[in-house]
Amino acid sequence: MPWYRKLHWQIIIGLILGILYGVLAAVSGWGTFTAHWISPFGTIFINLLKLIAVPLVLTSLVTGVSSLSDLRKLSRIGGKTILIYIGTTTIAVTLGLAVVNLVQPGSQVPAEMRQSLQETYQQDASTHAGQAEEAKERGPLQLLVDMVPENFFGAASDNRNMLQMVFVALLLGVGMIQVSRKRIAVVLEFFKGLNEVIIRIVDLIMLMAPLGVFALISGTITSIAQDSLMQVLDLLGALGYYCAVVIGGLLIQTLVVYPLILKFMSPMSLSTFFRGIAPVQLVAFSTSSSGATLPVTMERCKEKLGVSEEVSSFVLPLGATMNMDGTGLYQAVAAVFIAQTLGMELGITAQLTIVLTAVLASIGTAAVPGAGIIMLVIILEAIGVPSAGIALILGVDRILDMLRTVTNVTGDATVATVVAASEGQLRQADLNEKKDRIRLQSTFVGSRAELLGDHFGEDEPK
Ligand code: ASP
Repeated sequence: MPWYRKLHWQIIIGLILGILYGVLAAVSGWGTFTAHWISPFGTIFINLLKLIAVPLVLTSLVTGVSSLSDLRKLSRIGGKTILIYIGTTTIAVTLGLAVVNLVQPGSQVPAEMRQSLQETYQQDASTHAGQAEEAKERGPLQLLVDMVPENFFGAASDNRNMLQMVFVALLLGVGMIQVSRKRIAVVLEFFKGLNEVIIRIVDLIMLMAPLGVFALISGTITSIAQDSLMQVLDLLGALGYYCAVVIGGLLIQTLVVYPLILKFMSPMSLSTFFRGIAPVQLVAFSTSSSGATLPVTMERCKEKLGVSEEVSSFVLPLGATMNMDGTGLYQAVAAVFIAQTLGMELGITAQLTIVLTAVLASIGTAAVPGAGIIMLVIILEAIGVPSAGIALILGVDRILDMLRTVTNVTGDATVATVVAASEGQLRQADLNEKKDRIRLQSTFVGSRAELLGDHFGEDEPK
């Protein structure tokens, strides 16, 4: 297949053209034209992804769980998943803290810049602080209460209730295990068939991805710039060190930490992994929402990485809502940066508090654009830094949001791969390739490579 026919190249082209057009539109003052004639295609693309997310989670999780032979396996996979999720988030937050303490970007911000940023974003900062206050007032067990819906349609009617949908699907799947196979054969076939149909619909939606990404990126650039690109560039210059630290941390997490985890905890080759999830990362980048990206993540992990239905249908929706490594890392960097800029020293206790609160806050962060900065307020309050300090970083938050969402979805895919590998549920495309190569060699050298090849398991890639 020629390279330009491959989906991820088409999306990259859409992205580059979107950036070029966005900058041109911002410079030429075409903001209104872009909002009226280009951005709607981005909204349609996101809506389509959101539209398919709930049915996808429901059907694939019911299919996955009901095909389990015993429930102990489900609790094992669940326990493992949550543990690894907390582990990767803790690594990300600690990494963020290490980099921000090393580089000290807060000490580079001149006093007058600090003053003007605080004045400009004061209003927005207090709105965010108000939203965080609401989140904080909820008791510690509210997360559990929120998971259990009182009405099926209520749960299915709002994509923010994804955990409720996971709960309903688990309940349904577990119920189906209790009934004899014969009685539920029709129900099972129904969910399996519907699941197949939905996966094909995701494929169809992805045909629109290059256009969707183009529209989203150009719309984002023009709305950030609000027809004055110079102002944004000035801001990026002033907060350059801060942005560089966040981006550096995210890059290390995405390109070093995850590959190391994959290398030691799964047989997945890195090229298969990154080639497989490239469209996921690109959609995450342009939508800034791991929730909207979920259908793409599930489809690619299953079809390209070979993660089983059972694992992907459980681990990925949970990850999209709970596992936000990029967000946790960014929250740690931002909290310390704000403290540094305001001239406040953070001792070891405060830094440890950041690790704990950032891990919890990232779990509580909704999988939508801009949610990370709201939970940041809670971290700031926990370490005694004035929450109005978020005014300092609001101006560049949208750009960093795009990047941290890429890390968030990469983390989810990594954990899904690792859990699948540990359960023997990774259909290994590349291992099968290796096996074929060994078989081929064996015909020449007459070695026992065929036997060796069989060792890799027999499942054929799709
Ligand atoms: N936009 C992020 C996500 O959906 C959350 C955040 O950090 O704001 O993953």
